[in-house]
Parts: sequence; C-alpha cells; structure tokens
Amino acid sequence: MTILPVCFTVRSLQSRRTGVNMFTSFLIKYAEIGVKGKNRYLFEDALVKQIRHALKKADGDFQVRKTDGRIYVDAVSAFDYEDTVEALQKVFGISGICPVVSVEDEGFEKLGERVVKYLDEVYPDKHKTFKVAARRARKNYPLDSMEINMEMGGVILDAYPEMKVDVHKPDIMLHIEIRDKIYIYSEIIPGPGGMPVGTGGKAMLLLSGGIDSPVAGYMIAKRGVKIDAVYFHAPPYTSERAKEKVVDLARKVAQYTGPIYLHVINFTDIQMYIYDKCPHDELTIIMRRYMMRIAERIAKESDCLGLITGESIGQVASQTMHSLMVTNEVCELPVYRPLIGFDKMEIVDISEKIDTYETSILPYEDCCTIFVAKHPVTKPNLKFIKRHEENLAEKIDELVQTALDTDELIIVS
Ligand code: ATP
Ligand code: MG
Repeated sequence: MTILPVCFTVRSLQSRRTGVNMFTSFLIKYAEIGVKGKNRYLFEDALVKQIRHALKKADGDFQVRKTDGRIYVDAVSAFDYEDTVEALQKVFGISGICPVVSVEDEGFEKLGERVVKYLDEVYPDKHKTFKVAARRARKNYPLDSMEINMEMGGVILDAYPEMKVDVHKPDIMLHIEIRDKIYIYSEIIPGPGGMPVGTGGKAMLLLSGGIDSPVAGYMIAKRGVKIDAVYFHAPPYTSERAKEKVVDLARKVAQYTGPIYLHVINFTDIQMYIYDKCPHDELTIIMRRYMMRIAERIAKESDCLGLITGESIGQVASQTMHSLMVTNEVCELPVYRPLIGFDKMEIVDISEKIDTYETSILPYEDCCTIFVAKHPVTKPNLKFIKRHEENLAEKIDELVQTALDTDELIIVS
C-alpha cells in the first residue's frame, strides 16, 4: 500500500510536509448522545453508510469498518488527505476525525521508534507538554495500559528532553491503541456533529433562492433527517437562472444531506389568479398559504413527516407572529422552522460556513418579491384571509392540481 504525498489541512499538521503521508486511517469519533442502548447499531450503520457515500467524492479508495464500537476509515490506495478530511467534515454524526498512523506490532522498542518519529513529523516544535493515553484492547499485549503510558513517556522524554509530561492539561494527548494493529493518533479535527442522515425520517424543505431556507434545510438534516425539497417557480416572471440558482443551492446542501429530490412547481397561474382576485396587501400571505398547501400535498405523497421553512420571527411582514399563525393554519403536518429565533447575521454566519451564502446573494428574482404589495399586512386577520380566499373558489383547485401534475422532479446530488 502506497500513500502519496499530500498537504495537511489541520493547522498543527500544516507546518511540515513530510514527503510521504504517514496517515493510513482515520478514527471516527461520534457523540455518545442518542447512541446508547439497542438503537446504537442503527446509528452506527447509518453513519457508516453516510461516510461511504461522502468518500465517493474524495480522491482515493477507502474501507469503512466498524469494530469494537469504533468506526475506522482505512485508506486502501493513495489518497488526498485534504479531500478526505473535507468529505468527512460533511458527514453528520461525526464529532471528531482523528488521522491515525497504524503500525504492525513488532515489539515495544519498534513502537517507541515509531512514536518518536510520529511526534517529530506532527510537532516540529517540541516545546510542548504531553500525556500518553494507552488503551490495550488486545489483552495479550505484554504491557498493560499503565505500563505502556509510563514506558512510552520515558522513551519520548529521552528522545525530546524539551518536552514535558502534564497529565492534567497536556498540549498533546498521544493515544496509543493496541488492537490487531497498533494505532497512534493525537489530533482531533472537529466534525459537524449531529446525527447521521437517515436516522430521523424525512421532511420537505421549502427551498427558495434566498439565504434562509438552505440553512434551515441544513439544520434539520443535521438532526438526522433526510431532505426532499420544493421550489415554487413563476416563469416568465422568474427566470431559468433563478431556478438554476435554487438547483445550485440544493447541490450545496446535498453535500451534507446526500441526494435531494427537488420538486419544481410552476406557480405562475396560481399567483396571477390570487393577484386578480384578492386584496394586494394580502397577496404574500395568501400565496404563502398556497405554497404550504402544495408543499404538504407533495410531502404526504413522498412520505415526509413534516415541512421545513427558513422563517424567522419578524424578519419580514409575512413572518410576524400573526402572519406565521395564518400561514401555519393550512398545514396538518408539523412545520419545522429551525431559524425561528435567529437574527439575520446568525443565519448569514451559518450560510457562510456551509458555503451557500455566495450563491444565495446572487441577484435573481424570487416569486414572492415580484408580486409583492407596497404595504403588505403585518397582522393578517385569519377570518378576512379565509373570506378573500373564497374569491378563488372557481378555479383554484384546478390550478393547484395542474401545478401538482406538472411537478418537475430534479434529483440533485
Ligand atoms: P429565504 O431567504 O429562505 O428565501 P426569505 O427571508 O426570503 O427566506 P420569505 O420569502 O418570506 O423569506 O420566505 C419564507 C420561507 O418560505 C422561505 O424561507 C422558504 O422556506 C419559503 N419560500 C419562500 N419562497 C419560496 C419559493 N419560491 N419556493 C419555495 N419556498 C419558498
Ligand atoms: Mg425568499
């Protein structure tokens, strides 16, 4: 097995390029919360599946295995370290990624040499404190964990007298795990946390081209929920480019969630009909109610257990408490609004982190803004709204049905 040269992404590893990538595996850490008990294997199996899927994008071949309550990613070909870490950092359920050097058991002396070399490669500056944390999973190893800690501590101090032991708050926690092979690691690269996608059912995201809804989808997917999406398109008032922008956003979110089934619904006729028949200051809220109704119909047909929107209290007229109540009133399924208490800046921070921001701010029109009234109601009255929706009785069911029948499905991955 040859591992080709790579450059390190982890800051502390970055300072030195060793010519040969010494890492052969990654130990995957996952949060223990929700993982205990008889459902643990479901969580782990879903995580393994998501890791395998994510690694298809990385440059290299890998084996993902679950042993002794741990998940390892072993490289079985040359691989790009940066690519691999980046792919793993998008798998929900991973709390930490430890680049591991694995060596055969050739006796303690050889292990000592390998550990000394490891420290030299990873920490060019030796003015650091350390602690050895050995774990002897294979009980026939001649030294027990305590003995390995002490003996290896001595070997390291002999090699690098400038290093010091600190058992309470060491700069370097050097893990040595004795298993079929011996694993050496000390770095933990943070993962995204959350739960593996697929462990929490499925929900329908109302995905627009804005900043908020991609973030909302990301946040619910992070809790293990698979995502489908629906986009309301109003050609010719909204352009093909506006649709492509939504597909691009779905693609970015799909990096975390896996493939997204995106339903593109032609909303033009419904929108025009509402425009003709209803008071203009109530236009947005009535449109939002029809979006929710249609999204729910598709959601139910696709076995989704809820809807997701990017709404946040008070952000715009259609998101006051009154407006949200009126919008929500048409839904039977629960509507998840993960951004409900977030300020715009907090949402922007997440969108930058997940790399949707630059796409979201591209200036393409949105169907909600095109027909928007100068002074939309901020405190819609449900009774009036319902009464005005009666103006639509003649044609609206047929228009909704046509919109559903002409649903364009795009599988985005
Ligand atoms: P976003 O940044 O997500 O577009 P926004 O601040 O522009 O949100 P609104 O236009 O009021 O807010 O939309 C509120 C929510 O309704 C959005 O977050 C999204 O979930 C949904 N939504 C709005 N327009 C559309 C659309 N054209 N297609 C699908 N969903 C939409
Ligand atoms: Mg919007």
